[in-house]
Amino acid sequence: MNIPEFAMGIGQGVWLTHGAMRCFELSDPADRKAMIQLKKINHAYHTKSILRDLDLDILDGGLTCLLGSSGSGKSTILRIIAGLEIPQGGQVVMDGKVVTDAGKILVPAAERGIGFVFQDLALWPHFTVYEHIAFGLKELKINDLESKVLEMLDAFGLRKHRDKYPHQLSGGQKQLVAIARSLVLKPKTLLMDEPLSDLDVKLKHRMLEIIKALKQKYDMTIIYVTHDHKEAFALADQVVVLNQGQIEAMGSVSEIKTSSSAFVQYFLEY
Ligand code: ADP
Ligand code: MG
Repeated sequence: MNIPEFAMGIGQGVWLTHGAMRCFELSDPADRKAMIQLKKINHAYHTKSILRDLDLDILDGGLTCLLGSSGSGKSTILRIIAGLEIPQGGQVVMDGKVVTDAGKILVPAAERGIGFVFQDLALWPHFTVYEHIAFGLKELKINDLESKVLEMLDAFGLRKHRDKYPHQLSGGQKQLVAIARSLVLKPKTLLMDEPLSDLDVKLKHRMLEIIKALKQKYDMTIIYVTHDHKEAFALADQVVVLNQGQIEAMGSVSEIKTSSSAFVQYFLEY
């Protein structure tokens, strides 16, 4: 991985990130309404109960990290928010509108204004970088496709890789393509499911800076899933700690660090 290849994007991002973080600290979290709410969500796979009466408010415009060990229900929650999984009970509310209700999808996934970066990235082996980013725009028959794709390629330092296929890219570049593909559609909410788990520590650090910068630049709500508390602490405005499908603790990074929950303290040791 040649880090300087996308250093231009990073440099801009870091600068923006620092500005963004200062702004964020000055604003009062109570002023921001929840754009996404989960209300009494119950979900089982076959007979195995995974989520029980789960209530969760996601801060509008904030970066919320769902933090928990493998199998704690993180991906299930993301999929329910996206409309890719139908919970047996409870509601999902977006911008005050019920989008999933008591086992029924009322607003389909494609109409929720959500971008999803999947854990395995889900890049298409026969698509170039350019084609990945153009795909959603083509589907939606959006005008001015070429300039929108080029803008994204430049923002992510990917222009020189535009004609490469996934197998010709490094791990970090693939990550950027997956994120750019989602962002070009200007989602109101971006869901990221353990997007950095396969990267080495150095590259992970770079990507964390990019993600913080993106949040500011694109003014969106991000829900970021991880099992790594260091990632959550580096990124989050709000951390939600999950324990076997239930919320063990929720709050700012400093609140979670000083949580009186024995589970949280144990979890943070590893
Ligand atoms: P996490 O993302 O925190 O690792 P998941 O939400 O993927 O957790 O999974 C929670 C639990 O549900 C796990 O025990 C997992 O094995 C189970 N599970 C997830 N998806 C399915 C599925 N499609 N069918 C059956 N069980 C599933
Ligand atoms: Mg998962």
